[in-house]
Amino acid sequence: MNIEEIKEKALSERIPIIMDDTLEVIKKILLEEKPKKILELGTATGYSSICFSNILNNNVYIDTIELDSNRANEAISNIKLMGLENNINVIIGNAVDILPTLNEKYDIFFIDAAKSKYPIFLKEALRLSHKGSVILADNILYKGYVMSDYNKHKQRTAVTHLREYIKDVNENKTLQTEILEIGDGLAVSRVLE
Ligand code: SAM
Repeated sequence: MNIEEIKEKALSERIPIIMDDTLEVIKKILLEEKPKKILELGTATGYSSICFSNILNNNVYIDTIELDSNRANEAISNIKLMGLENNINVIIGNAVDILPTLNEKYDIFFIDAAKSKYPIFLKEALRLSHKGSVILADNILYKGYVMSDYNKHKQRTAVTHLREYIKDVNENKTLQTEILEIGDGLAVSRVLE
């Protein structure tokens, strides 16, 4: 199994994984920031965390949280196959419950789990951040629903919370935020103080 096969397997099983253009942008950020510690919310089968580690020549430590135990166990096995078990730590559970138990500081956050929990994830990421940390939130424009006035969609709860996330980061004076229209939308927030 190589990284392309991990990607293809996830796609064939309709497991949503990071889009290529989003990964390209994050690659640039990672190469500039050279993070030592990353926290990912939403591991799925480990594709993005393995990519992040590889981009950094595996000179990074990643904690990644996944709710679905089948996916988490597949991620653990994929990470082992790639020889990255000392670099990537999969935590099985609901990020809403796990986050309050963490107390370390992280250089980069990659939020890619339940969209309706993004505002909660942001609060916890801020608590675990330091000056200069970067908080990335994927799917922030959610197929365009977030910026449109279409509100009868079954995904209305997610859209409401993604809008709340955007409002929170924009109003937070300790953050400098850009919303990038790539992939499914990526919010990039730098912690200023
Ligand atoms: N980051 C992965 C990648 O690009 O390879 C894709 C993650 S996928 C978009 C989102 C994952 O978040 C799913 O596997 C889902 O089970 C998980 N998830 C959803 N809600 C969660 C929660 N509250 N805590 C932890 N994981 C959650």
